[in-house]
Amino acid sequence: MEFQQQRMLFEDELDARAAWESEVDRLIGSGALFVANHSGGKDSQVQLIRLLERVPANQLVVVHASLGPMEWPGAMELARDQAAAADLPFIVAKAGKTLLEMVERRFESRPEVPSWPSASTRQCTSDLKRGPIQREVRRYAKANGFKTIVNCLGLRAQESPNRAKRTVFSRMGISNSVLTWYEWLPVHDMRTTEVFEAIAAAGQQPHYAYALGNDRLSCVFCVMASKPDLRNGRAQHPELFEQYVALEQRTGYTMHMNRIPLLELTA
Ligand code: SF4
Repeated sequence: MEFQQQRMLFEDELDARAAWESEVDRLIGSGALFVANHSGGKDSQVQLIRLLERVPANQLVVVHASLGPMEWPGAMELARDQAAAADLPFIVAKAGKTLLEMVERRFESRPEVPSWPSASTRQCTSDLKRGPIQREVRRYAKANGFKTIVNCLGLRAQESPNRAKRTVFSRMGISNSVLTWYEWLPVHDMRTTEVFEAIAAAGQQPHYAYALGNDRLSCVFCVMASKPDLRNGRAQHPELFEQYVALEQRTGYTMHMNRIPLLELTA
């Protein structure tokens, strides 16, 4: 790329950053509620560290979408304890079904289509995380008189090309006459090493699954997980693994987005 083009891109980025920084400051000043979505993973953890540096505690709430027995044990507790240490309210958002129940129901109602969520249509994210979190945030906002929500997600550009393209700050389409919603990605520009350094600098420990070699943390077996993460999951949670394998075999569809059965992927 030409030097001139590079410079223009850099200047555009700086302008965009200055614009969202001032919008965030305006929203802090006007008393908006900042929602720290917290999976128990390192990116959520560093996001909350960063948010606490900027947003007054009385405008912060931490929300964890519980995936029940499907998620890494200790994830919810890590989010809860980090919130408690900062004296912040903590909410657990629960869906009316687990991921495996969702897959079973889909198989029973439409056996001719793949039963598992895919990377492009992540019904699991919308039904098990986003939907229950929005429901709980609406309830909290109503009970506490907030009219503006800033929904903060610990997504980082380094994670994938799709995440790199995400806008750091935007108004959400679910805004209505009752609540105005914004989405903010406060740690979008952080590198993985910076995330772990910032957690250590804050005197905190990340979830133990990272020490086992996991890249990511949420469901023990994620439709998009790397092979090492799936192998760790199998080694640490063999009974849960058997449930996933049994459901793959019953539905005739594979869980993972690369369409290789779990038994083969983790062999
Ligand atoms: S961790 Fe993976 S499988 Fe679990 S809800 Fe999120 S995207 Fe779906």
